[in-house]
Amino acid sequence: MFKVNDNYLKLPGSYLFSTIGKKVKAYQEAHPDKEIIRLGIGDVTQPLAPAIIEALHKAVDEMGKAETFHGYAPDLGYEFLRNAIAKNDYADRGCRIEADEIFVSDGAKCDSGNIQEIFSIDNKIAVCDPVYPVYVDTNVMAGRTGVYDPASETWSDVIYMPCTAENDFVPELPRETPDLIYLCFPNNPTGSAITKDQLQVWVDYANRVGAVIIYDAAYEAYISEENVPHSIYECEGARTCAIELKSFSKNAGFTGTRLGYTVVPKDLKSGDVMLHSLWARRHGTKYNGAPYIVQRAGEAVYSPEGKEQLKKQVAYYMNNARVIKEGLQEAGYTVAGGVNAPYIWLKTPEKMTSWEFFDYLLEKANVVGTPGSGFGPSGEGYFRLTAFGSYENTVAALERIKKL
Ligand SMILES: *Cc1c(COP(=O)(O)O)cnc(C)c1O
Repeated sequence: MFKVNDNYLKLPGSYLFSTIGKKVKAYQEAHPDKEIIRLGIGDVTQPLAPAIIEALHKAVDEMGKAETFHGYAPDLGYEFLRNAIAKNDYADRGCRIEADEIFVSDGAKCDSGNIQEIFSIDNKIAVCDPVYPVYVDTNVMAGRTGVYDPASETWSDVIYMPCTAENDFVPELPRETPDLIYLCFPNNPTGSAITKDQLQVWVDYANRVGAVIIYDAAYEAYISEENVPHSIYECEGARTCAIELKSFSKNAGFTGTRLGYTVVPKDLKSGDVMLHSLWARRHGTKYNGAPYIVQRAGEAVYSPEGKEQLKKQVAYYMNNARVIKEGLQEAGYTVAGGVNAPYIWLKTPEKMTSWEFFDYLLEKANVVGTPGSGFGPSGEGYFRLTAFGSYENTVAALERIKKL
């Protein structure tokens, strides 16, 4: 008789977005005349840039001719894309990353979930709290996280690193030594960034204790401040302790098109085993998940026209972020984020829990956001608004909030 992987049964239901959906639906049914504005979702809304559309069309036509047809993509991804990544995202920033250390994939979510498979089940993970839920969930499914305590909403074998206003949303080095450290900067959900000096401390620490940092740079394109690193490989020594995840979702609108990559430097070793050769055996190898057509679209992200168009797209969202941040500040809220990331993280007013504030905002302003407690225990008392809506809706939402 077959048995299921009962680690899956340990996953507490992901109630966050389904609860939000139910609450919004119930409210809309009771008040059909109210126009609800959503500033809660982490999905982009602007269409693909013209340079990308052009590349897609061209690649589609190539697929229709025998001479230019493409079958299975090469293991690591097409060289034209990996070369563009190596040059633009690394060499131009003074980072030493070779094209054959880049593994193209169909997105950072899969990679951030699958990467734990190349590590022993005995490894202990450390995560920021609050955090993107995928890191912990996939370690739960692998059986690496111990016992869940519903009261504190924490796992016994996970090291939580609180990120709150007290530490400016950048974690302190953990007291207990982890084996795998998940860091995501600029951060979802707090919108906070880490400076290069602060990140260097983490790289030095990881090298000292023999830990690996899994660095999620999905929001790199939103960085506006000089002292914030675009890649962990800007730090000295990162090649021996860090894996980097990147996505084309938030910088180029590929959430539905699907493209990302993972960097595993050849200097990253356990004894004489290169993690690079383990990741080469990952799920999806030989097909790598990203179609030729999409990899050509990814190449266009790095063309001069593509770069110009995407800079405008990021600027559009960051203008929304400014509208949200300034509007909230005018209304008397304490806010973080919104400078190097499209997320604004606000402190809920006196004595309101994250969910109480959700209800308050939905009922009084007809604006939907995301309760901070949904991202981890230290998110309680906070609330996330996203800059991915339209400018008009964002302005309208803030007008309503200011009137409360
Ligand atoms: C949106 C997001 C990603 C991107 O995932 P894709 O699978 O590439 O769409 C990765 N990490 C974080 C923290 C995100 O918020």
